[in-house]
Amino acid sequence: MLDTTRTTAPYEELLERNRRYLWNPFTQMKGYLDSEPVIVERAEGVRLVDVEGRSYYDGNSSMWLNVHGHRKAELDRAISEQLERVAHSTLLGQGNVPALELAERLVEIVPPGLGKVFYSDSGSEAVEIALKLAVGYWRRLGRPEKRVLVSMRNAYHGDTVGAVSVGGIDLFHSEFEPLLFPTRKVTYPYAYRFDGSQEECAAACLAELEQDLDAHGSETAAVVVEPIVQAAAGMVTMPPGFLRELASLCRAHEVLLVCDEVAVGFGRTGPMFACEHEDVTPDLMTVGKGITGGYLPLAATFTTDAIYDAFLGEHEDLRTFYHGHSYTGNQLACAAALASLELFERDALLDRVAASSEIVRSRLAHLTALPHVGEIRQRGLMIGIELVRDRATKETFDWKLAVGQRVCRRARELGMITRPLGDVVTFVPPLATEDSDLDAMLDILEQAVVEGTEGVV
Ligand code: PLP
Repeated sequence: MLDTTRTTAPYEELLERNRRYLWNPFTQMKGYLDSEPVIVERAEGVRLVDVEGRSYYDGNSSMWLNVHGHRKAELDRAISEQLERVAHSTLLGQGNVPALELAERLVEIVPPGLGKVFYSDSGSEAVEIALKLAVGYWRRLGRPEKRVLVSMRNAYHGDTVGAVSVGGIDLFHSEFEPLLFPTRKVTYPYAYRFDGSQEECAAACLAELEQDLDAHGSETAAVVVEPIVQAAAGMVTMPPGFLRELASLCRAHEVLLVCDEVAVGFGRTGPMFACEHEDVTPDLMTVGKGITGGYLPLAATFTTDAIYDAFLGEHEDLRTFYHGHSYTGNQLACAAALASLELFERDALLDRVAASSEIVRSRLAHLTALPHVGEIRQRGLMIGIELVRDRATKETFDWKLAVGQRVCRRARELGMITRPLGDVVTFVPPLATEDSDLDAMLDILEQAVVEGTEGVV
């Protein structure tokens, strides 16, 4: 008989395994292994517990994923009930029950006009699919010259080669240049770093896009954008009205709009989808992360019926979309996503997000008086605190000082895990965080910002 009980090895032994065998993502292994990394053993609600029994608030929702907290009974149950039926069967040329039920539910809640869903396993893949669909759409319409993508400076859409091609963070992306296909870049409105008002910043960025599309619209397939918050760039928030204007520029130039909601979808910025802030329906929309409540890998690309229809035809018409992954439409993940959507409704979670966002806003307001807090940016429960050497001049810290990391390290000592984006400290709590936990997390965040920047010059 197979022994399925598992006992946890002591910390030092696990760390040694990490040293010998495991290469962590987005991680400089040298510094990581020397930094007494947290090794998570279990979780409860909005807390992660390490192998030595220390508990930490999950202050970035385990990389912007977690929605209802960990070990949520309803989600656990939905997955185990699905396990009693089947864990996985392919979606290539056949269906499965939870994938179909979820597709219907999703199409009911995404911005109107997005009528079809194509599943994948990660946000990066959802983006790859959107890019291929955009280019493939124009080709099938007999306009193959419309094949160039426009994307934003400082964008992050994932780490696969297509997603990196439309990305724009030099630190992550520039070394892969030889692998990337050419795209055109325009500027995302980063008002804090613009010499002028927020309105002037928005107008300048829109004028730049318009000029680009006036000149090159006829060869452009799509504009790709992170709506409302350019997350990995440092939680850069769009000025009001910008997305709507951008969408109408795309329409006027016969260019598709791809909105990447992988980070901002599923209530993170307030409404279910960030596009709703501005009543925009893109032609293609990508989601991932929070779709399963942060439980299992699942992502999706939504398209309009017009795009779907362009790919319809007889076998010999050669219109098929040749793209798919082994685990596309995985039943366990779809069952988790269905249960998560039920919890959104049952718990009126978007109302809670609205209330929690206000708590965060009022609690953090006074931090702007601190000498090293340049700007606090927030949409819903996505928060970025930009730290600067000098608040008056907005001068940045020397990057080698890694001030963002210092603050997050201090937060960890105080009992909360989060990650910096350069010198922007992020706070992205699980959406269902109770007020008392939210207060405790904010106490830690505040103390970490104060103490982590003290004496740094
Ligand atoms: N798109 C955006 C806007 C993201 O923020 C991310 C990840 O942070 C991705 C795509 C990539 O998603 P994944 O890490 O699931 O591949």
